[in-house]
Amino acid sequence: MRLLAGAATDVGMVREGNEDGFLIDDRLQLFAVADGMGGHQAGEVASATALEALRASVAAGTALESAVTAANSAVFEKASADEALRGMGTTLTTLSIDPDGAELLIGHVGDSRAYLIRDGELRQITEDHSLVEELVREGRLTPEQADVHPQRSIITRALGIDADVNVDLVPVEIRPGDRILLCSDGLTTMLRTSDIATILRREPDPGRAADLLVDAANAAGGEDNITAVIIEVEDDGLAGITGARVAGASAVGAPAPPADVDAPPTRRQRRRRDRGGGRRRTFARVVLWTLPVLIILGIGVGAVGWYARHGYYLKFVDNKVVMFKGVDGGLLGFDPTRVQDTKITRKQLNAAGGGAAIDAIAATKTFGSRSAADAYVRRLRTGIADANRPTTTTTIPTTTTAPTTTAPGTPTTAVPTTPPSGP
Ligand code: MN
Repeated sequence: MRLLAGAATDVGMVREGNEDGFLIDDRLQLFAVADGMGGHQAGEVASATALEALRASVAAGTALESAVTAANSAVFEKASADEALRGMGTTLTTLSIDPDGAELLIGHVGDSRAYLIRDGELRQITEDHSLVEELVREGRLTPEQADVHPQRSIITRALGIDADVNVDLVPVEIRPGDRILLCSDGLTTMLRTSDIATILRREPDPGRAADLLVDAANAAGGEDNITAVIIEVEDDGLAGITGARVAGASAVGAPAPPADVDAPPTRRQRRRRDRGGGRRRTFARVVLWTLPVLIILGIGVGAVGWYARHGYYLKFVDNKVVMFKGVDGGLLGFDPTRVQDTKITRKQLNAAGGGAAIDAIAATKTFGSRSAADAYVRRLRTGIADANRPTTTTTIPTTTTAPTTTAPGTPTTAVPTTPPSGP
């Protein structure tokens, strides 16, 4: 399988600079869109840094997910090292051939998008890591409300913000005639999916189709930078004759053409440099303090992002108590991680008279810190151990595990009323 691509990027009608970037590396069969953020050209640095690091990693044989992680590190380190670049970040949506199968693999962070175009229909195959998408997933906004929401450009995951990043990997089974569109939000906030589909149905050449998409987004207002990369599977025997503008549709064995990172300024990029204003992309954590949308969330300001990443909770999984880091169900793009299987069972708690603890854990028992969660688990263990003693706990005051250390609402009420069970 060979992939061919065409692309276009444009500053749009409002912004001063183009913080978007794209990558087409024909030799590596690697394609990407990045949408940078950060003041004073930092956004441009972020997207270019991510794309270059991604390419270098893939060229060195790194798997796609790790290559995206490496791109994150590159942006994060650059941002940490330079005061002028502090806080910069970027989205990254990238496509390559999956070496393990006859399919494609997408790596994705942020709110740039990948669409599969099949039989003229567009299907979005990435999930936006954006505040409004989180609210849609929680049922707090309809997709229609999200489309016009004033906070729709706030993203909840980006490269360069943290030392670690959670990368979505999306495998794509491709059929003859399928195309993939990678694009920044400057395209999708200006055009309806049906408009994009219409353009792609009319124009078979990927490079010209990308140009037409950018033109249409500008005609609709061009409020943001606009980038589109269109990738198609090479037609056997027809390679090159569709005139893909950026793809190196060269003969087999020819030296690989140079890849484009941030294609040289086009006619469109050179104009409209003197415009200013426009809504800026922001990262959720940076603006949490001023977000009116938090009223919708009904959660304490600031606690949201912090809790999503630093809180702990206990929950039953298969009737065993499991400790998770994060917020149950995920919040603002931070998915909870399983940190400890305590092996404490619902049955053990029940036998120890821990009805209140069972209720609390069944309803998700939350903690502000790992040590608080650990202390609670210790109390549960103590309560179970005490309940299993051959004598009543009230008769063994010499041990360090006195009944006062039992879990809240656990055996403290049940145990003393239990008649002595020992001989
Ligand atoms: Mn954008």
